[in-house]
Amino acid sequence: MNAYHANPRDPSGFLKQAKKQLGQNFLRERGIIEKIVLALSPKADEHIVEIGPGQGALTLPILQKTGKLTAIEFDRDLIAPLTQAAEASGGELNLIHRDVLQVDFSQLANTLGGKIRLIGNLPYNLSSPILFHALAHAHAICDMHFMLQKEVVERMAAAEGSKVYGRLSVMLQAYCQVTPLITVPPGAFRPAPKVDSAVVRLVPHPPEAIQVADRARFADIVRAAFAQRRKTLHNALRELCDDADIRAAGLEPQMRAEQVPVAGFIALASQSSQNSLR
Ligand code: SAM
Repeated sequence: MNAYHANPRDPSGFLKQAKKQLGQNFLRERGIIEKIVLALSPKADEHIVEIGPGQGALTLPILQKTGKLTAIEFDRDLIAPLTQAAEASGGELNLIHRDVLQVDFSQLANTLGGKIRLIGNLPYNLSSPILFHALAHAHAICDMHFMLQKEVVERMAAAEGSKVYGRLSVMLQAYCQVTPLITVPPGAFRPAPKVDSAVVRLVPHPPEAIQVADRARFADIVRAAFAQRRKTLHNALRELCDDADIRAAGLEPQMRAEQVPVAGFIALASQSSQNSLR
């Protein structure tokens, strides 16, 4: 039996059944799709790359505006119908059948001839790995528009002092401007997820504005500081820096990670990496 029916007019229709293990919650609400495409505001001369095009809910309206699009999809059952739907729409879809985590965005940008704009209603089980993967290639990316669980977007955009401020907030804000855009209720998807979703825009800071000198050390410090968020910096960072480093970064050893602004972590990483070289 055919696993799909290709119908470009019905973006909910390729698969008989969505695959939970691939985080398949397909967008079906026209109004939300239009809002996302409006927020993206795609232009014909841009290199737009969609992660997880699924049944084309975003792909086909973007293609209509740009005439061409690159998309990365892991589910082989979606490749043929999506290709057919794109052909029927008259657009040029460059469909890459691969796990997005195996795609080198820098290389892709080179191949396409310029920085890319990433868009995707992401598989929620892979949101953090995809975000960190994209961060590693931030120099090759103009901006990103991602649909994620609302709770994840709140963590990404949180400021110090907030209950949800954590590793994700610090790591993303050190490299990107994070702007939540649209809240999306479960009913906008088929099947409906259990939680609210939200669309967020990430714009990587220009390289000269990124203050992180030693990325690996910065990541280690942030991870250790939030591993047990009730611990003081003095206790949580014992292995990585001493009280003198903490004070030299303008912080206090008795502070907890959730009280430290992004700039404080950046200063601490640079202070402690200078000391480790002595
Ligand atoms: N963009 C479509 C929409 O909005 O209706 C589908 C979104 S659905 C939440 C996530 C999509 O990501 C699915 O099509 C799924 O097959 C795909 N996907 C899951 N894991 C993937 C991976 N590792 N690499 C690329 N695509 C993946």
